[in-house]
Amino acid sequence: MTFRTRIFLTALAASAIALAVATALVSWSVRRSLEERIGGELLSEARLAAETLSHRRAATAAELDAEADAIGAALSARVTFIAADGRVVGDSALDAAQIATVENHGSRPEILEARRAGLGSVRRHSATVDRDFMYVAVPVRSPESPPLAFVRLALPLTGIDAQLAQVRRAAGAGFAAGIAAALLIGWIVSILLARRVHAIAAVARRYAAGDLTPPARDYGTDEIGTVARVLDDSVQQIARRAAEIDADRARTEAILAGMVEGVLVVDRDGRVQLANDAARRMLRMPDTGGRHYLEAIRHPAVAAQIAQTLSGDRPPALELSGVGEAGTTLVARTAPVPPPAAPGVVVVLHDITDLRRADQVRRDFVANVSHELRTPLTAVRGYVEALLDEHGVTDTSRQFLDVIARHTNRMERLVQDLLRLARLDAGQEAFERGEVDVDALFAGVETELADALTTHAQVVERRIDPDAATVFGDEARLHDALRNLVDNASRYAPDGSRIVLGAYRRGDRLVLSVADEGPGIPEADLTRVFERFYRVDKARSRAARDPGGTGLGLAIVKHLVELHGGRVAARNRPERGAAFDIELPLT
Ligand code: ADP
Repeated sequence: MTFRTRIFLTALAASAIALAVATALVSWSVRRSLEERIGGELLSEARLAAETLSHRRAATAAELDAEADAIGAALSARVTFIAADGRVVGDSALDAAQIATVENHGSRPEILEARRAGLGSVRRHSATVDRDFMYVAVPVRSPESPPLAFVRLALPLTGIDAQLAQVRRAAGAGFAAGIAAALLIGWIVSILLARRVHAIAAVARRYAAGDLTPPARDYGTDEIGTVARVLDDSVQQIARRAAEIDADRARTEAILAGMVEGVLVVDRDGRVQLANDAARRMLRMPDTGGRHYLEAIRHPAVAAQIAQTLSGDRPPALELSGVGEAGTTLVARTAPVPPPAAPGVVVVLHDITDLRRADQVRRDFVANVSHELRTPLTAVRGYVEALLDEHGVTDTSRQFLDVIARHTNRMERLVQDLLRLARLDAGQEAFERGEVDVDALFAGVETELADALTTHAQVVERRIDPDAATVFGDEARLHDALRNLVDNASRYAPDGSRIVLGAYRRGDRLVLSVADEGPGIPEADLTRVFERFYRVDKARSRAARDPGGTGLGLAIVKHLVELHGGRVAARNRPERGAAFDIELPLT
């Protein structure tokens, strides 16, 4: 059923019901008022008749009937005289013969009521004359004429029915006119409403098809108009948001496409949601279109890193060689996608091939230069020593030759350290691990530096916990690392001070520590001292006077310790001086 038909039928039904109810009400009230009026009139007339009759003298039955006929004719109503025992003694509608045969009226409701209450009024169908009547009975108190006890007046209600029929006819005509008007108004209103609803539906269909241009027509000010306007505003707002999202997406895509770094986003289920050109090129993925990362990414290390991040871990950056084009080196970093975005993992890939290549060039250069410097330096030192051994060298020349010898020495140490770092960088040092006795290790270092320690009157104290008596590592490398640290301690701490070599367990690690009573290291420099050539404020150290240091010692220590899978850290002791802790895995 269409909207229009529904509105039309509803209007029609409403008006039909209203008109039917109105007609019924009018009929009922007309009937009621007519009956009341007739009842009232009959009652007055009956009372008047009763009053008149109460003064009459005794009479015969024929006289009574004649009187009933006379009163009936005067009042245009049927008049009946009834004796106290219910017998009919006169009736304006019956002759004497009929009166003799008429049934006893003592049990008629109006008589019973008149007997009981002094007045009886009833509307009833008369079997005698087959019509609806209004009966009114009142008692007559006539001492002269005892047979007359009640006078009853009856009036047929045919007049009322005729009047009611007239009312019904008028109501029927009004009903028909009302329905016709309702039909017409309902039809017009339904057409107008349906037209507006159709127009709104057409706009909605256009929106659904993707055309979001706002309509020109006005929706009107009533409820339908308000609903249409609210919906229209919502659609326009959604359209604006969609346009913003499109712009954002286009911008993001442009940024991603222009990035040198590869970016890859994997959702919670492991599907590749996004991969920019750089990522596709770096990981050699021609097409990712919603595939699972295990299918799309052929490099197991990257896949493992994504899996780890998806399971909630934060794996460290991963360096990869030979993933994409030959000879490239990549660094892959993964991180969980932060809320409110859909959960997943974002992978960022940096191509560090050039960086690595430049680093390699630098290392090669340093190694080559150091190597090339070694021969001339050996020659210089040899000739200086030869000159110093010569007889007849003046004091001034000897002084100069000493300076040359000292600087040559320092340069040789520098070259040596540089070459060592180059070897460590290139992984060229043989590395053999085994059980090493810590006390023997400390003793070896002490013996090697005995001259310097004696010169500065410094004492070395060994504190080795029983559970740290042996360490697992490469003895020669650990010796070198400790020698560098003790050498520093000896050089930076004052003469006559104490150097403590300690060994103890810290969880599942073994710590070798070198502590001195020197000036310590400024907090800001504690991590930086391990950088190559990094030196804390030179004036503070005795290195200014004694050019023994190269600035590479701690860098070498760090390298050696990391070869063991350990780490080294500098700290300041609460009492005074610096301490260096080498932390090594137990096995
Ligand atoms: P250097 O050959 O100059 O000693 P290192 O790499 O061994 O080079 O040390 C780097 C810097 O760290 C030193 O220049 C010095 O400033 C600081 N340093 C190292 N050890 C100590 C120490 N025990 N006490 C104070 N400062 C130190």
